[in-house]
Amino acid sequence: MPRAQPIKAARGVRDILPATIPLWRQAEQGAADVARRFGYQEIATPIIEQLELIQRVGEDTDAVAKELYRLDKRGSQELALRPEATAGVVRAYFEGGLNQGPQPSRLYLIGPMFRHDKPQKGRYRQFFQFNVEVIGGASSGFDAEVIELALGWLNEVGVQDLRLELNSIGDGKCRPAYLGRLTEYYRPLKSSLHADSQLRLERNPLRLLDSKVAQDQPFKAGAPKITDYLCDECAAHWAAVRRLLDAAGIEYQHNPYLVRGLDYYTRTVFEFYPGGASGQQDALASGGRYDGLAEAEGWPSTPGVGFAGGLDRVVELIAAKGDQAAVKPAADVLVLPDGDFAVEAAEVARICRSVRSTAVDYEPKSLAAKMRSANKLGVKFVVLLTPEDAARRSARVRDMASGEQTELEWVELPTRLA
Ligand code: AMP
Repeated sequence: MPRAQPIKAARGVRDILPATIPLWRQAEQGAADVARRFGYQEIATPIIEQLELIQRVGEDTDAVAKELYRLDKRGSQELALRPEATAGVVRAYFEGGLNQGPQPSRLYLIGPMFRHDKPQKGRYRQFFQFNVEVIGGASSGFDAEVIELALGWLNEVGVQDLRLELNSIGDGKCRPAYLGRLTEYYRPLKSSLHADSQLRLERNPLRLLDSKVAQDQPFKAGAPKITDYLCDECAAHWAAVRRLLDAAGIEYQHNPYLVRGLDYYTRTVFEFYPGGASGQQDALASGGRYDGLAEAEGWPSTPGVGFAGGLDRVVELIAAKGDQAAVKPAADVLVLPDGDFAVEAAEVARICRSVRSTAVDYEPKSLAAKMRSANKLGVKFVVLLTPEDAARRSARVRDMASGEQTELEWVELPTRLA
């Protein structure tokens, strides 16, 4: 009978195999440690949300317009897999009554996000983010704080060579006038722009600035810069954020083309890149202020600021540096029964586990073959068990580093192995 074709993982998603798990733990642990050091509390929200929530906050982004994983309708609700975390965290902040507690809420979340993006290095369809949000805080101090936290995380996990790009995109008060100037500038150039940018000119002119196509680049330099058009409040906020970063010794580059295409984003926007890289698929973390988001979701107007860091890309950087901790063997101790006595081998393993991680080689192989696997696994101790040993409730412990072998009673095993 012909064998059926094996079914592979879905396109654009990855397995994290045991050898790389320590790197993921390092990136996650670093995130949790730094977040806690800054006084942030962990929150977990579902990976499914109502489609409407996601659409309401992201309708004009690629992540929602083109890349959303919608689920088949079940019952009365239309659902989707979350493409990002902020919409859900803000929803949970109100639904869970965090808005009633002391303000602001400082929250972090680590988990998978889903986008039906074109798979390539650094861009996956299921990827993991470290998400940090300050909800209920309008002060510029919070903007600088989340930037410092993001940097603290990247440094903590060993990513030192970084570039921070920073901009302010104003707010509902000053942005409309700026958009008028921007449109005025681009209108006569329309026919020279890429077709997508021609559409942006009509629908979302701010996004002309983050066009990545070569054809549009020559026109950017002459475009008016939004930071020259900020209202007094936004200008003061922009100056305060930069002052705080200067005082913290955090270097940044003002990138006047760094924007967000949605109306609820206000003032600060920032992105971290590895030194020397600038491609969108290289960004390690990006964030900003979203004072209009709560209202866009239908809740009372509440300011917020935060960022999302990409764990996949951070793990790839740590792996490329090669200074990760050596991969540990799965167990410290391997019990090798020389024959078919699983009951006794299991009991010995149970005793050893009181002090060390222990596995049993149950396969009907020769003792020599079992010793070869023990060597390959890199275990610290092997506990040999012959039928005679088993009958006497004794065993031989071999220290794999020194080669020293001692015979002892089962009850003595914890002391010997500890
Ligand atoms: P965004 O939510 O698009 O602002 O992305 C925030 C961060 O998440 C980025 O800086 C990346 O590090 C990471 N990220 C976004 N999309 C992907 C993806 N498709 N695959 C892997 N990482 C991603």
